[in-house]
Amino acid sequence: MKKNLKNALSWSVLVLGLILLTVPFDGKFLGASTQELTYSRFIRAVSDGAVREVSIRNSTSKITGVLSSGQMFSTVAPIDLKMVDRLLDNGVEIHVDSGESGWGYLMSILMQWFPILLLIGLMIYSSRQMRSGNKGGIGGGPLGIGKARSKMLQQQKVNVTFDDVAGIDEAKQELEEIVDFLKSPEKFQRLGGKIPRGVLLVGDPGNGKTLLARAIAGEANVPFYSISGSDFVEVFVGVGASRVREVFEHAKKHVPCIVFIDEIDAVGRRRDTSMRGANDEREQTLNQLLVEMDGFDEKQGVIVLAATNRADILDPALLRPGRFDRRIMVQYPDMNGRAKILTVHSKNVPLDEDVDLQTIARGTPGFSGAELANLVNEAALLAARGNQSHVTMCDFERAKDKVIMGAERRSMSMTDEEKRNTAYHEAGHALIALLVPQCDPIHKVTIIPRGGALGMVVRLPEKDKFSITRTELLSNIRVALGGRAAEELIFGDENITTGASQDIKQATQTAKNMVIKWGMNSTLGLRSFYDSDGYYLEASDQISPKTSEVIDMEIRSIINDAHEEVRDMLAKHREELESIADALLERETLSGDDVRMIFDGKKLPTLETAGGRPS
Ligand code: ADP
Ligand code: ZN
Repeated sequence: MKKNLKNALSWSVLVLGLILLTVPFDGKFLGASTQELTYSRFIRAVSDGAVREVSIRNSTSKITGVLSSGQMFSTVAPIDLKMVDRLLDNGVEIHVDSGESGWGYLMSILMQWFPILLLIGLMIYSSRQMRSGNKGGIGGGPLGIGKARSKMLQQQKVNVTFDDVAGIDEAKQELEEIVDFLKSPEKFQRLGGKIPRGVLLVGDPGNGKTLLARAIAGEANVPFYSISGSDFVEVFVGVGASRVREVFEHAKKHVPCIVFIDEIDAVGRRRDTSMRGANDEREQTLNQLLVEMDGFDEKQGVIVLAATNRADILDPALLRPGRFDRRIMVQYPDMNGRAKILTVHSKNVPLDEDVDLQTIARGTPGFSGAELANLVNEAALLAARGNQSHVTMCDFERAKDKVIMGAERRSMSMTDEEKRNTAYHEAGHALIALLVPQCDPIHKVTIIPRGGALGMVVRLPEKDKFSITRTELLSNIRVALGGRAAEELIFGDENITTGASQDIKQATQTAKNMVIKWGMNSTLGLRSFYDSDGYYLEASDQISPKTSEVIDMEIRSIINDAHEEVRDMLAKHREELESIADALLERETLSGDDVRMIFDGKKLPTLETAGGRPS
């Protein structure tokens, strides 16, 4: 984030410099136009009495001045000893600038050189930037290209321990062995124990892979070197490979130590024979990585940890014995895990008596460790903003909305028309969510713009889920289509909006996966039509054109059937749809309970008592 800002800043300075460079600095750019006169025309004008005043600068032969018409002019004079007499005879006002030492002169020189100086400065600055972080005694190349790894090689002091990692006990246990090895390698070697060289940490972002790797280094008190796969994706072929070489050279000098490669999939993707040439850089980097992994033996004590969220797309060569042959899953925490993570992160946060972390954990299925950490942080910020001495359950409830839905964008002004449209759209989603079977209950419905959305319906599962039924998938598709269907019903087919694009994308993706991935289509049966990259095989020769057509048709029919059904449902429950939309327009946000009450035809409690109530 910070780095982006800095980048943007230096870019804008650069662009500004370039613009300045193209603007001539003789006053033209200020808007006044100056007429260029030949010297003879100038003299004629003087004789005609058409010149009001002139400025002569002793150091140059340039003369500027103003005609009696007010027009500014400039001319270049030869050495003309009679000029001053002629000017005086014709009553022209003469200003003389001594030239050498005047501020004006200095300034004008500076102004002319400023953009160029700026550019030179920038170049020096950026090359310095690239070279910094290179303090490990490794020299930088010209302009530091290929050496731009800033913090990469700096030994990072780690003060994270296993106590900071909560809720992922299996992963922790598996890694404890590595800590033991790093602490006393001799003990392990005496017994002939084999320690893995490479460990792959697999899991979705935010579940603590980096944290775990750091904790190992912290526990064993060894240096921690971290690099990210995306750092390697460089413009210049060969840069990635040379970086990999350097990191390992460095690591081998500081054994025992940990090398952590984040986002290894950025370089370690399976090599694809059909895309030769396009990926030279990645391939070289990957090869170098393989060479390095083979080039040290386990007794040396360099342990390489790599993180990815997609182990299935990695090149098999990476996973061979002696390389990343150990795989540890770092999964979403379950309810107890979430409670523990919340406990760790609220260690230094004063909690109100009413705060029950177990309850919060129950209400946050699917949250990653990072989201939970963020939740505690947001709650603390809210409490601080309200000058409270403690963080209350209500703060957590509001923080949860913010973490799930993104920050409110109240400043965004929607027209009444858009608001009405959004209200019906969201009411459509909500109503269908109440009507279809096996659907996750509604947590909140809102028409306050948040993040990139104008409004949203948030549903939360009641408990942790590990698989989804077919009915549930079909219900999800229906809920997704409910928004657009409501627009069609209320405003007519001509007035539907672009607001449904995400919904449509999501419905299509689900339907597609049902057909090509999960074997949930009777025509095609239990067959898989996607490769391990998650790509649909359509383009390959593994699917006949006919099958491909059937796949398309089946996807379309799932969506179309759902659309029809949703339209019917909404038409049948139009009254409820309108009351939900009205309530949304009035209150902007409704809880799941509110929506259910409206659906049952009950009156909502007045606004005062509705606010801040946990749903
Ligand atoms: P990943 O590398 O898997 O994307 P990180 O390790 O960067 O995730 O996690 C980001 C942050 O989330 C951590 O710095 C930590 O504050 C928090 N976090 C994630 N998982 C846990 C956990 N199991 N226990 C405690 N905090 C966690
Ligand atoms: Zn929608």
